[in-house]
Amino acid sequence: MKLIFEKSVPGRCCALLPACDVPVRPLESRFARKDPPRLPELSEVDLSRHYTALAGRVHGVNDGFYPLGSCTMKYNPALHEELAALPGFAGVHPLQPQHTVQGCLEVLARAEALLCEVTGMEQMTFQPAAGAHGELTGLLLIKAYHRDRGDAARTKIIVPDSAHGTNPASASMAGFEVVNIPSAPDGCVDLEALRAAVGPDTAGLMLTNPNTLGLFDRNILQITRIVHEAGGLNYYDGANLNAVMGVARPGDMGFDVVHLNLHKTFSTPHGGGGPGSGAVGAGALLAPFLPAPRAAAAGGGYAFETPPKSIGTVKAFYGNFLVVVRALAYILTLGGDGLSEASENAVLNANYLKALLAPYAPPACAGVCMHEFVVTLERLKKETGVTALDVAKAMLDCGIHPPTMYFPLIVHEALMFEPTETESKETLDWAAAQITGILRRAAEDPQSLHAAPCTTPVGRPDEVAAARAPKLRYRFDTL
Ligand SMILES: *Cc1c(COP(=O)(O)O)cnc(C)c1O
Repeated sequence: MKLIFEKSVPGRCCALLPACDVPVRPLESRFARKDPPRLPELSEVDLSRHYTALAGRVHGVNDGFYPLGSCTMKYNPALHEELAALPGFAGVHPLQPQHTVQGCLEVLARAEALLCEVTGMEQMTFQPAAGAHGELTGLLLIKAYHRDRGDAARTKIIVPDSAHGTNPASASMAGFEVVNIPSAPDGCVDLEALRAAVGPDTAGLMLTNPNTLGLFDRNILQITRIVHEAGGLNYYDGANLNAVMGVARPGDMGFDVVHLNLHKTFSTPHGGGGPGSGAVGAGALLAPFLPAPRAAAAGGGYAFETPPKSIGTVKAFYGNFLVVVRALAYILTLGGDGLSEASENAVLNANYLKALLAPYAPPACAGVCMHEFVVTLERLKKETGVTALDVAKAMLDCGIHPPTMYFPLIVHEALMFEPTETESKETLDWAAAQITGILRRAAEDPQSLHAAPCTTPVGRPDEVAAARAPKLRYRFDTL
């Protein structure tokens, strides 16, 4: 497919600018550009066809099943898009006087109160733009807390080896040293390894529960107590709250700070790179350190305030506000019972798909999973040479987005499935039939799987080159 710049014809255009209705002021020459911008020039129909063709080359939740583990690619109701598009939300300016945007401040305050109830936290900030950004913010809260107490020795963050890759990266960015602890054979936190790791240098622990294997750690109260008794704080990676919202609260599990990916669990479409929201909730110890500004009730209305010991600002203005509008709409639409039911269905769907696949794709861990599960194709690879990558590529030919591959790192030939609660039994049955069909074919005709995918515009990109030498810019000189 040609790039839009290659379709460009000089002089062709489809923009109709209205006549200027304000006095024309010439731009000072120092601000004026010297060369015209190199923009593609196309007619409207060619422009429309270009983007329609591009849309046909991607796979989204609206195209088909998308069980990408740890990403919660659920269907997001169109109603929430409509609400986020209301002019009173979509058309406000971040520098408008506060008395003209009271409704928007109320959205922030109400969403905060409801999400604090869901997580068991005291206060929340919506500034961070994504999950990893929320992690960085939460860790900076922990850092500020220890520093405020005059305890500069707490320089280490403990992270289990099953953690999402962003956890150690965020801890390192926040200036901490990362201490990795191995998981126990059952895939959960090894209590002895944790006891051996904590000490007077422990700033905190970062944990995902349910973890990336889809397991709820039964020892969670013991884990958070061990860290607290050592003087550390507990960070909850709540990027995927899909198994526990309305069922269990990180605050009740002993966590001091939590981030949520509103763009995963709370109804903002994602996968295309944003905008997102890594909302951070803080318990009583950390709330005074939250970023500024925060919307809060004041004098019968709402106003922005700065928490007493605020770490400052982590993003311009108030975060991605329209993501918060969608989250509030989602919570109010479902209600408390609806949230619990969504979690229960997410867990039910994951266990159902796991059971259907189990005869061909053994689960990495025994027992009931939460919202996602991991299978290992280690034996398949040994017996047939077919890898988890081959199987994932073959799924593309069936119209299924592949699951997350080779993650968590502690499972060999891992595929991580997260069907989400919005899939019907019919879809799960169909998908299981497709996937087990691929796994049967692996034994009979392994070669055909090495050749997959056959129906997609791009087959097997060179992923190392794509990561190390990405081409992010169009080279006009090659035209
Ligand atoms: C997705 C995810 C993150 C990171 O969220 P981003 O918005 O992609 O930065 C962190 N932790 C877990 C467990 C996740 O699934």
